[in-house]
Amino acid sequence: MMFLKVSNAKIWLALMGLAFLVSCSDAPEKIAFSGETMGTTYSVTLYTKDPRHNQEEIKRKVDIVLERVNAQMSTYDPNSELSQFNQFESTEPVVISRELERVVTRAIEIAEQTEGALDITVGPLVNLWGFGPQARPEEEPSDKELQTVREKTGYQKLRVENHQLIKDNPEMYVDLSTIAKGYGVDRVGHLLDQLRIKQYLVEIGGEVLTKGGKPDEASWRLAVEKPVSTERAVQRVVQFKDGALATSGDYRNYFEEDGRRYSHIIDPATGYPIQHNLVSVSVYADDTMSADAYATALLVMGTDKAKAFARKQNLAVMLIYKTEDGFNEYISDAFKPLLSEQE
Ligand code: FAD
Repeated sequence: MMFLKVSNAKIWLALMGLAFLVSCSDAPEKIAFSGETMGTTYSVTLYTKDPRHNQEEIKRKVDIVLERVNAQMSTYDPNSELSQFNQFESTEPVVISRELERVVTRAIEIAEQTEGALDITVGPLVNLWGFGPQARPEEEPSDKELQTVREKTGYQKLRVENHQLIKDNPEMYVDLSTIAKGYGVDRVGHLLDQLRIKQYLVEIGGEVLTKGGKPDEASWRLAVEKPVSTERAVQRVVQFKDGALATSGDYRNYFEEDGRRYSHIIDPATGYPIQHNLVSVSVYADDTMSADAYATALLVMGTDKAKAFARKQNLAVMLIYKTEDGFNEYISDAFKPLLSEQE
């Protein structure tokens, strides 16, 4: 047989040629993995043609990035950089990492823009209502307790100057829960950019960043949940190639007492958990940190103010609010192009 006449060396060369063809083929490899971070889960899906990219190595690097964000910004870790700042009962400036500086600066910008609806100093109130690292209170806090705690809050009493963080009241406590998850997603995206990965989706606890679409020019398709705690169902499917989507809602993280529902989102203007008909806010933006922060801020505002704010700022948002007949949606003009026609 012809086959037998071919020398071993030729077979080897032929196999090499085949391997070369395979590695040069146009079909990218899909790599997908998940893990745990920030009291929740994360997942990464990416496509690559580079044979040097391997899942184990990329996951190891992603975990290092996320551990770093945790070590800087977690209020659940008493040794984190942020916890140390919170424990430092002084108005003396504290030198902080560039990463913490970046997140606090952006949070203060959005606080100013939203007239304090987003306020990263509400931590003592979050804890008082039992949604932080501390245990839930036995009963609703008294007006006096609320008043005492509110004196320690107010983003206007927090400043970043020359890479230093300064609080005007030594008992202030900074809580980045609403923005640092989004920042963590952006950091992982940055890592994948550095690894020259051009198509990816990164997600932490539902906050998502995508880049480059999927192979064959397809967009990433994402589901926005129905705002109900009894089941996991899809409200809308959105699709895009590049960008970030974050959703805030009060339908999962809440407790009920004496027939009243207490949300984990605090209205800094009253010190109370929000009490209105807006139940879910999704925001699409260039970066996940901003999308995450705006989603919480708009949820605090309530339906009418959130609509007006989205129109004024031309934000891409989808609001879901309760009516007597069920749920209604408000979809801003900038969000409409993201809606998928096939759901
Ligand atoms: P979002 O809407 O994104 O944020 C809501 C949270 O923001 C509230 O729970 C409250 O903390 C705060 N908030 C409420 N009102 C306001 C307001 N008006 N302005 C600003 N902020 C407000 N959880 C754990 O159980 N264990 C952990 O080890 C843990 N580690 C974490 C580490 C990091 C770095 C971060 C960022 C979070 C961590 N969490 C941990 C918290 C957990 O994942 C949170 O539930 C989450 O960050 C809140 O996100 P969300 O999407 O539920 O709500």
